[in-house]
Amino acid sequence: MEDGCGREINYLRISVTERCNQHCVYCMPAVPKGRPCEGMPAEDIIEVVQQAVPLGFTKFRLTGGEPLMRPDILRICEGIAETDGVQELTMTTNAQKLGEMAADLKHAGLQRVNISLDTLDSKKYRRISGGNIREVLQGMEAAYRSGLTPIKINAVLLGGINDDEIYKMVELTRSCPLELRFIELMPIGPAAHFPKSRFLPCSAVLDAVQDLIPVSGGETEGVARMYQLPGGKGKVGLISPLSCEFCDRCNRIRLTADGCLKPCLHSNEEIRLRGLRGQQLQWALKLAIAHKPERHGELDAQHPSPAARAMNQIGG
Ligand code: SAM
Ligand code: SF4
Repeated sequence: MEDGCGREINYLRISVTERCNQHCVYCMPAVPKGRPCEGMPAEDIIEVVQQAVPLGFTKFRLTGGEPLMRPDILRICEGIAETDGVQELTMTTNAQKLGEMAADLKHAGLQRVNISLDTLDSKKYRRISGGNIREVLQGMEAAYRSGLTPIKINAVLLGGINDDEIYKMVELTRSCPLELRFIELMPIGPAAHFPKSRFLPCSAVLDAVQDLIPVSGGETEGVARMYQLPGGKGKVGLISPLSCEFCDRCNRIRLTADGCLKPCLHSNEEIRLRGLRGQQLQWALKLAIAHKPERHGELDAQHPSPAARAMNQIGG
């Protein structure tokens, strides 16, 4: 369905829980406000998808918090995957539990995964996220073996923390057929209080790796501008939310774990749909599409996101 700015909105990102088995410094508040929301019942999430499809939604992503913390995540995947009209079902995960779950997820209808990995250094990984990098690597391998491909790696650019690894990470795409996506740190949740030096523009990647070349003359994949090393098997995507450069092709709305639709990540406007059924869900979805702003306001260290929620609640 088209929004008021002529954008075709066909992508719903669903946060299935606020809970997480990690605690990334830029994402989870150090002191959470109350208990994290466990998420909507699986059948309610599936019903939202069933009502979204007739409005033209074809792409769905499960996120969180950590989606693999949901004991019924396989049921959620199955219910969405078997809904007529669903063309794409993907997940963003920290991969801590992916090694043991990848095959079942594929069997349940999940098509591919984005795995978050900001560093290749195990100590730094633990400092940033509190997690274990070995699990991530095992998860990646299991995802590859199970056919949850092509795998995309999400790396948040953190000035003074992982910018010294940009070259090494990009080198991975020379021999591995993966898409490494660098994402500008957004001043939201705990990151809203980070010093200016932590915020790097995506151009830092092009400065660090000068032989990166635009893929087929500036191809974009969703919100990413695509690059490649000469002869590289993989690709490098640059995602620049701070510059607002993808607002005019934004095709998504978000569903928070506690059942609110967010027309824009960086706005406080929300439409509550928890408790709604059938046609009422379609009205809520239409309202969210109609309320999508043309673009978000200025975002940088001095201008934090007006969104009152942290990323683990919204789902990124
Ligand atoms: N737990 C899963 C994971 O980490 O992949 C899914 C949820 S997480 C909120 C989704 C994505 O949001 C992750 O790739 C994470 O790095 C990113 N993210 C979280 N906080 C961010 C911030 N302040 N700026 C940019 N990206 C952020
Ligand atoms: Fe958890 Fe993902 Fe947020 Fe890290 S980025 S704290 S893994 S929800």
